[in-house]
Amino acid sequence: MITRSPTNVQTNTIALHEDASTRWQTQLARAIRDPRELCRRLDLNPQWLPGAERGHELFEVRVPEAYLARIHHGDPDDPLLRQIVPLAEEDVATEGYVPDPLAETDQTPRQGVIHKYRGRVLLIASPACAINCRYCFRRHFPYQENSPSREQWRDSLAYIQQDASLREVILSGGDPLASSDRQLDWLVGQLDAIPHLKRLRIHTRLPVVIPDRIDDALSQWLSRTRLAKIVVLHINHANEIDDAVIKACQRLKALGATLLNQSVLLRGVNDSVDALDALSERLFDADILPYYLHVLDPVSGAAHFDVPDDEARSLVDALRSRLPGFLVPRLVREIPGEASKTPL
Ligand code: SF4
Repeated sequence: MITRSPTNVQTNTIALHEDASTRWQTQLARAIRDPRELCRRLDLNPQWLPGAERGHELFEVRVPEAYLARIHHGDPDDPLLRQIVPLAEEDVATEGYVPDPLAETDQTPRQGVIHKYRGRVLLIASPACAINCRYCFRRHFPYQENSPSREQWRDSLAYIQQDASLREVILSGGDPLASSDRQLDWLVGQLDAIPHLKRLRIHTRLPVVIPDRIDDALSQWLSRTRLAKIVVLHINHANEIDDAVIKACQRLKALGATLLNQSVLLRGVNDSVDALDALSERLFDADILPYYLHVLDPVSGAAHFDVPDDEARSLVDALRSRLPGFLVPRLVREIPGEASKTPL
């Protein structure tokens, strides 16, 4: 049984009193982690519970309240609910679906560093996520072996320092913004001092699932860096963007960040032209441009989300006939060993 997950490591600092600077940590600490409570809170028929409990054993439940509030209770087809409720299907072995579909463990020259592409390198800045997405391609990633500490980061920073071809560092995870501001401030300060770096990219879902994460403390360290800032959000459905998310995005924009989005094409979530059209329009409302639409990475436990390639191409062709080009994401697949994402 696989129980390792981006979220089975305790987050660093959990303050239990509420004030402006700790509100997001409190929400993170209080995220729902019990499948029984999740089914009850969503008014799901009790027949869902055995499957949810089995799925939770494979990849634990985690859902913050701010995300739960956007789900239509009692509707098992809600596109947000489908992303977070564990199902018995996750226990079905499917040919071609494996624990590490992108072979990332072969591309870690240092603990916590993933170097796949020329000119950019990815740092696992936090082993934790604020939400556990059932289709996550890193649901089996050995985070505990790649869990960051300052000592490990020094080793990662030395790796980046000695490779002058690197222009960009991508903070990833887990979710990098699940780290404390103190740690991120230190890390970004170290990156700032490496002269060949030009860009800092942050791959995060936290502004979507706990918008209060974009607070004054984050603004302070992010505004200090000399590096160009790109925040790549992960949003799969228009219903994920409420007014609080838009406000968080406006704060990031005000700090000079370029906002992009990557989605995963998911059966039962966004596998229609209407859903993809509404997502692009809503992203534009939030000042975010669609970047990639990924086909599902074949990770064990997620086969029920798959949309075949032909259907994916037809959906994006239809989207192109409806929307201006800048609102049509690039349909891609990640293939281990390729020099970039592969367009479909
Ligand atoms: S998809 Fe992103 S936010 Fe969701 S579990 Fe995976 S790493 Fe975490």
